[in-house]
Amino acid sequence: MALVKTRGLVVRVVDYGEKDRILTVLTEDFGLITAMANGSRTLKSRTLIAAEQFCYSQYILFKNKDRYTVREVELIESFFDLRTDIERMALAGYLCEVVSHVGTENMPDVPLLRLTLNALYAISRGSYPLWQIKGSFEIRAAAILGFMPALNACDRCGEEGADVVLDVMNGVVICEKCRNLQSAEEREAELDGSKSAISCFLRPGARAALYYAVECPLEKILSFRLDDAEEQRNFAYVAETYLLNQLETGFKTLDFYKSIISV
Ligand SMILES: [Zn+2]
Repeated sequence: MALVKTRGLVVRVVDYGEKDRILTVLTEDFGLITAMANGSRTLKSRTLIAAEQFCYSQYILFKNKDRYTVREVELIESFFDLRTDIERMALAGYLCEVVSHVGTENMPDVPLLRLTLNALYAISRGSYPLWQIKGSFEIRAAAILGFMPALNACDRCGEEGADVVLDVMNGVVICEKCRNLQSAEEREAELDGSKSAISCFLRPGARAALYYAVECPLEKILSFRLDDAEEQRNFAYVAETYLLNQLETGFKTLDFYKSIISV
């Protein structure tokens, strides 16, 4: 048994017994871990305030083989303002579900943690539109997880300026000209809906914004503007489609978020 120190973000909370909670925490040093927070549901508990979803804290943990127990916790940021608005909270819940799905134990993933904290700060402050925070998170998370899309030039001919579609499963763009040269066989594969042929039309502004969100320094990920509503919708659609297809899953929290914003 050892005492270890790390910082981490609570992405999931499950009540356990009468007084305890099991926290899923994306940590700086140990990747995604589950940690028992004993007595965290009792009012006297020192861990009460930090044993909530979205809380980012400094931890001292007991580590016994692969099991962690919270010994001490000091709250750094609670993202309190997330909880004042159902749309913001629903989006934050979706980002946390993505993290708890892709995180790996014993694999520190500092970029993923920083990306998520960045997004939660932005949602909490209301400093950027939610579609922009969501899409930037999705496309950058895909890149961090090893599915970096090559958006700059046509995969076939290298042309940079032309209109393109994104070949979602292969993470490459293909220009109109090269698409028209596709063999009948390839077109047929697309028509029968096989997984290898999901493609999205990319508007120029959306493409530039996605390229920026993938390539820019992480702390500047939201420093772009996309004013046209059609471009915004295209950006949001492509980012979401890309991440979900790479992860080969859907998320209940995403369905919930969408059910709220469509009202
Ligand atoms: Zn081409």
